Amino acid sequence: MRNRQWLLARRPSGPIQDSDFNLVETDAPTPGPGEVLVRNLMLSCDPAQRGWMAMDSYVPAIKIGEVVRSGGAGRIEASNNPDFAVGDIVVGLTGWQDYVAMNPKDQLNKLPPGAPLELAMSALGMNGVTAYFGLLDVGRPVAGETVVVSGAAGATGSVAGQIAKIKGCRVIGIAGGAEKCRWLTDEAGFDAAIDYKSEDVQARLKELCPKGIDIFFDNVGGDILDAALAWLAMRGRVVLCGAIAIYNATEPPPGPKYYLSLLIQRGRMEGFIVFDYMPRAGEAIGALSNWVQAGKLKYRVDVQHGLENAPATLRRLFEGRNEGKQLLRVAE
Ligand code: NAP
Repeated sequence: MRNRQWLLARRPSGPIQDSDFNLVETDAPTPGPGEVLVRNLMLSCDPAQRGWMAMDSYVPAIKIGEVVRSGGAGRIEASNNPDFAVGDIVVGLTGWQDYVAMNPKDQLNKLPPGAPLELAMSALGMNGVTAYFGLLDVGRPVAGETVVVSGAAGATGSVAGQIAKIKGCRVIGIAGGAEKCRWLTDEAGFDAAIDYKSEDVQARLKELCPKGIDIFFDNVGGDILDAALAWLAMRGRVVLCGAIAIYNATEPPPGPKYYLSLLIQRGRMEGFIVFDYMPRAGEAIGALSNWVQAGKLKYRVDVQHGLENAPATLRRLFEGRNEGKQLLRVAE
């Protein structure tokens, strides 16, 4: 069995390019004692991968020459581990490659038989868990409050906004383009949506949030964060989930202009990393799964095909081309 692998060739500067990687082919690995051989079926594309390629952060940077780190779901093809059988479907950090031999104790989790992969890798996966704890633990919504979400039509933002609706809040989404805004209001149940590509975000926020923003769940950073800070309500909370607008920056971005709103409004701005919540992931997945079954939580996935398209598919996130969770199918 041959194994294609994407290795990191150099640290990206600006938007990622195909030449930041090398596609190599070797023999598939043989699992060692306690290990399993996983055939990757679907890869998760995440903005965080851009950061992992660039520098050490909450996890060590991917080393030059190493397989690109990536979430993925795969099928066990060989097992030296009594807890994992051939045919089991698992999720974990399986990387940009066809096959990987790994020890399941390195965070490989079995999916229940028959679980739909696309759901397990979106609303019930890492993005759903991020939205759940970011909104509920960090944002702490109260029914009747006004919640604004940036990157609202994406994998994480769409779930965060819908949880806020479930908790009785008024929810406004910010997204790029009329079609994404239509999906937010017509299908995901948001109260209003702002198209940041064609509208004045700050003016629209003032119009739509007459009493200010109680929670701003930010996936984007940059000018959109500024616009929301300028219109924070008393005791408003800014949840720093991500800042995709600045991940490709080659210079440190300018600081937020309106940060003094936090002082004037006695506000709070707090970041979080989903990995810290992994011991409680079951709680989130249980709640999210009930909401999906009850029809209260909608999700959509955007599936591209072919391991050879991994860099191009990751780039789609930074171009706003993904409609929902960006996945890459690498085998059936
Ligand atoms: P996603 O929202 O499904 O996809 C990324 C979206 O970002 C794109 O569809 C695009 O939407 C938007 N975008 C790209 N460039 C932009 C720009 N310059 N200005 C404004 N919007 C831009 O991706 P995701 O995986 O759910 O991640 C969303 C955010 O959550 C990221 O910042 C990510 O780092 C963060 N995150 C954080 C954690 C954590 O533990 N804190 C965990 C997971 C994800 P439009 O078409 O609307 O522009």
